[in-house]
Amino acid sequence: MPAHPANLAPPYEGGCSCGAVRFRIEAPPVGVRICHCRICQQAMASPFIVQASFPRPSVTVTGETSVWQSSPRLKRHFCPRCGTRVTIEPADGDRLAFPLATFDDPAALRPEMHIWTTSRIPWLRLDDGLPQYPEASPEPYRMP
Ligand SMILES: [Zn+2]
Ligand SMILES: [Zn+2]
Repeated sequence: MPAHPANLAPPYEGGCSCGAVRFRIEAPPVGVRICHCRICQQAMASPFIVQASFPRPSVTVTGETSVWQSSPRLKRHFCPRCGTRVTIEPADGDRLAFPLATFDDPAALRPEMHIWTTSRIPWLRLDDGLPQYPEASPEPYRMP
């Protein structure tokens, strides 16, 4: 799956609502996915999450975060002051993910696929032409 041609080049910057947590990313994404799983729905208090993954060494996060292990595979870091979920840390793979909504330019990157559409909320209509996967994205996923 190639990166979207409309993606802007790095660096990317962003952070939480209150500004206490900031991040800077120096590499292009290894994937940008829209996840409809129930864990993301609840964790983000949203019908879905749009998140971009990056090689871990390309990421700098400043400010204190709290962390919650939302599943055996994922930790979610959030700002203890405003509650914004900022960083998603998978146990497998040397990468970190960030919701596009936390980017200073939330349109800098474009999503490539929908995953876990088995738990898509039925009133949400998907007509963007992107591939849809009922569960996790197919492997191998694009890696640096
Ligand atoms: Zn904050
Ligand atoms: Zn999910």
